[in-house]
Amino acid sequence: MPATGDTCQVSGIYKVINHIQHPKEITMVAGKQYPPCAECSTKVQYQLVRPAQH
Ligand SMILES: [Zn+2]
Repeated sequence: MPATGDTCQVSGIYKVINHIQHPKEITMVAGKQYPPCAECSTKVQYQLVRPAQH
């Protein structure tokens, strides 16, 4: 699973999967780094929910 600090390979919507305190969905673009939790800066893991449409 991609985690905070990893470089995004596939653009799309990702959700936080291991941080139940602040479940979030974020939009990611390939080439950018996955951010920490927006609420508390905890390192988190992400799961691709929906790839970006082209
Ligand atoms: Zn958090």
